[in-house]
Amino acid sequence: SDHSLDYPTSPDAVDWAIHYPAFASSGRAPEFADVGCGFGGLLIALAPLYPDVLMLGLEIRVQVSQYVQDRIAALRVSSQPQSSPDIAETHPAPYQNVSVVRANAMKFLPNYFAKHSLSALFFLFPDPHFKSRKHKARIISPTLLAEYAYVLRPGGIVYTITDVHDLHLWMDSHLKNFPLFEPVSEQVLREEGKGPIIDAVYTSTEEGKKVERNNGQKWLACFRRIEP
Ligand code: SAM
Repeated sequence: SDHSLDYPTSPDAVDWAIHYPAFASSGRAPEFADVGCGFGGLLIALAPLYPDVLMLGLEIRVQVSQYVQDRIAALRVSSQPQSSPDIAETHPAPYQNVSVVRANAMKFLPNYFAKHSLSALFFLFPDPHFKSRKHKARIISPTLLAEYAYVLRPGGIVYTITDVHDLHLWMDSHLKNFPLFEPVSEQVLREEGKGPIIDAVYTSTEEGKKVERNNGQKWLACFRRIEP
């Protein structure tokens, strides 16, 4: 349960330098959050594409979050630049901008992210919780949407994707009905230059790859955080 977890009391209490040592002096905080990141495929895919954007995965399972942490550590070592330190300073080594925490994102998101600090929030292939008595366990719900709107800056994007049609309808309708989000099409996001993100959302995660192997369908739904 959550009792064994230590949570920061507020975003100010998080020492991001431990997560992103190469950015320690920058005073930056994460801008992308992958909720239920699983084995970290999205973070690993996006890290080199947006080397200046700090990204954080949140994963509730101990072994899985540890696996992601080890995976990032290994990538940081193996991709260290061989060239001069001056070059390393202007071009930070790859994967310095990604990290992960073991956390229950349904309870503690605002402990990690300050108001309006995120530009992207990802919900990729979340657990479907099929039975209706378990729907309250779903990661998208009216209460949680208020928290997601709080941590996202106006203009920020919520990306959702699933292979479960019923869950797609659920996430889509809840987000559509929430006053601080408006639907934004895949085409518009691609026109805005977010094509690489959309591609990663479709194909980079372990769950997404599994759906492909099984020839399953994927439903994408994206929303923009708007000003009231
Ligand atoms: N997004 C990954 C992908 O596409 O491969 C993982 C998808 S997996 C079906 C759902 C993940 O969400 C699991 O790793 C699970 O442990 C995690 N999870 C479920 N509830 C969570 C919560 N409240 N906070 C953080 N992670 C959670």
